[in-house]
Amino acid sequence: MNEERRGVYPFCGSCTESSVAWRVTGSGSRFYGHSDICENCGSSVRTLYRTFLWIPLAKAGRFRIIPTGGRTYVARKVIDRPVIAVAGEPASAIADHPELERDPSYRQAVSYWDAKEPGQALPFYQSALTQRESVLPADDPATLLVRLRVAQGLLATGNYGRAIAWFELVTPQLTQVFGAQHELTRAATEGATGARLMIGGPRSEASLLTDIVAADTSDLRSHDPQLIRDRAALGRALLAGGEIAQSLEALSASVVEATAALGADHPDTAVYRAALREVCEVGTARGRKRDLAAVEAARQLLVTEGAPTDR
Ligand SMILES: [Zn+2]
Repeated sequence: MNEERRGVYPFCGSCTESSVAWRVTGSGSRFYGHSDICENCGSSVRTLYRTFLWIPLAKAGRFRIIPTGGRTYVARKVIDRPVIAVAGEPASAIADHPELERDPSYRQAVSYWDAKEPGQALPFYQSALTQRESVLPADDPATLLVRLRVAQGLLATGNYGRAIAWFELVTPQLTQVFGAQHELTRAATEGATGARLMIGGPRSEASLLTDIVAADTSDLRSHDPQLIRDRAALGRALLAGGEIAQSLEALSASVVEATAALGADHPDTAVYRAALREVCEVGTARGRKRDLAAVEAARQLLVTEGAPTDR
């Protein structure tokens, strides 16, 4: 499992291990202090404060920082308590399906992965995933591992948009099943961050995903999980770019399609619903008149497409 412990450029392995990926959020904050300089990667630990007119108000956490010229920097949030291994891995139903572990596609995938060839492993993981999802739940630990590998394979082969779509889908599922600090969960967070660094800002991400969704729409049937997943990722990118109404439109479509294709109780549908709910909250908090009608429509959709297990 050492694959998950590599450093995330430009941070070294041990600095990566003691921190988590962090997305810069807005202004009104400032770094103070300068401690614990790493000899390997040159990063140092600084404390971020929320500020008002340059006056520090509240501590927002400690970050490992590497300056990248001028006033720019890359940062990772320092984990204050060490990562604790979860006592015992979550139970998988794979024990009832030994054929899945014996499957030649899966074995070939693992062999390429172990040889650090994630791109070569990708088609074999994709094939193994189809088999797993036909007999195991989407959020079974054994399914989630292969889903993560597919995302990592897409990242390694430069398919950044589709990789983000997978990482965004599996991260909440990995968090629920393995816990937020598990190395698989953290690998998914790192993967999404890595793909975003390659793409640029939310506008580039939304533009890339718009093209991907257009390609999906012409190639796939409307209920195809890939189209649903990529469109949900487009919705999140639009949210990050402040396009609330368009974000609601994309995520609403994913919720409707996922409910029809997978069912209201499916773990993927739950992730899309949670994302749509989040956009509703942001839209309401922002309170721009032109977004509020779309927010109300999306809230209605969440009620009418509601799962019995979902409030
Ligand atoms: Zn370091």
